[in-house]
Amino acid sequence: MAGFGEQLGRDLDEIRDAGLWRELREIDSAQTTRIKLDGREVINFSSNDYLGLAGHPALGQAAREAVEQFGVGSGASRLICGSLQPHHALEAALAKWQGTGAALVFSTGFVAAQGVLTSLLGRGDVVILDKKAHASMIDAAKLSGATLRVFRHNDLENLEKLLQWAAGQGGRVLVATESVFSMDGDRAPLAGIVELKERYGAWLMLDEAHAAGLYGPLGQGLAAADGLAGRIEIRMSTLGKAVGAAGGFICGSRQLVDLLVNKARSFIFSTAPSPAVSAAARAGVELIQGAEGQSLRGQLWQRVDELRRGAALLGWKTPAEPSAILPLIFGGEAKALAAMERLREAGFFIPAIRYPTVPRTEARLRVTLTANHTAEDIQQLVNALGQAVTR
Ligand SMILES: *Cc1c(COP(=O)(O)O)cnc(C)c1O
Repeated sequence: MAGFGEQLGRDLDEIRDAGLWRELREIDSAQTTRIKLDGREVINFSSNDYLGLAGHPALGQAAREAVEQFGVGSGASRLICGSLQPHHALEAALAKWQGTGAALVFSTGFVAAQGVLTSLLGRGDVVILDKKAHASMIDAAKLSGATLRVFRHNDLENLEKLLQWAAGQGGRVLVATESVFSMDGDRAPLAGIVELKERYGAWLMLDEAHAAGLYGPLGQGLAAADGLAGRIEIRMSTLGKAVGAAGGFICGSRQLVDLLVNKARSFIFSTAPSPAVSAAARAGVELIQGAEGQSLRGQLWQRVDELRRGAALLGWKTPAEPSAILPLIFGGEAKALAAMERLREAGFFIPAIRYPTVPRTEARLRVTLTANHTAEDIQQLVNALGQAVTR
């Protein structure tokens, strides 16, 4: 039998041979539209810092003040002695923003999904996921012990079939999907999904990781923009993307949050987030709702519009409705990697996204825009796409 070390070597060879090697890139600057990569400045089109809040002075100020008052570490889990004022203030702000009875903050969005699905579901229950749902929901669903079923991406007919089947299983049924999909930038047909889950007595968990901060009158997300927020039992998102800090959150009823506090292992058995990070997140949430947030959203949508028009003129297919994410799909992994390299030489950083993040035949460059990009940045990118990239 091969030893562990030998096996690791073979596993790594396999990854390399398949063209799927991944490695970390050290970035020596804050999260902005210009980053230094291998000693060279490039325009960054890969950050999820959609509103440019990660380096915003108001968030930095909130974090510094929290460090002064509460220190850096939270010292314990929330249920022991780590439940600090900044955590409570953030949760109150989130519940108010989202118009729900309560909110709960987790260390990351990834473990927030885990906490919800494992607390609400168990053997005998059914969880129905969109085919393109994020890895955090897939893993959480598996961990819950519930029966996992997958519906074709955004396919209401297929979802209804699974709901019909699930209704006969005798357990609880939960549908989970994203409002704006992380790798495709397209949207879930929320009204149809909400109607179906109500018709079949299921619950809905909606992941707004790429929509919170961006859509809706106060940037609450796509559910609020579509007037459906009040009909969705569980909304989750991250504090690490448009909000500009780190962490994950769940919004829902007081009962839901009470249940999570009592049952969610990823909440209970984990040290509370740093008070500085939670204070910064709260500053981000407040900023998003104010005049500055609105103006940043306006800037972002203008850039999105410019890129969509430029890409369409070059013959790229763009999602039906705008989002901050534009996938340029090549198909072959080697082609996507080559395009990434050429763009990098031209001064742009747009990583190739490959299997297993996306299907093998859908390797892509995932372009993300932020409010801090300028019209000039977009024009330069469109020019480079036209000159340097062949499909
Ligand atoms: C980023 C992301 C998460 C995880 O959030 P983190 O706070 O980064 O752990 C969950 N769902 C989706 C769709 C995401 O894109």
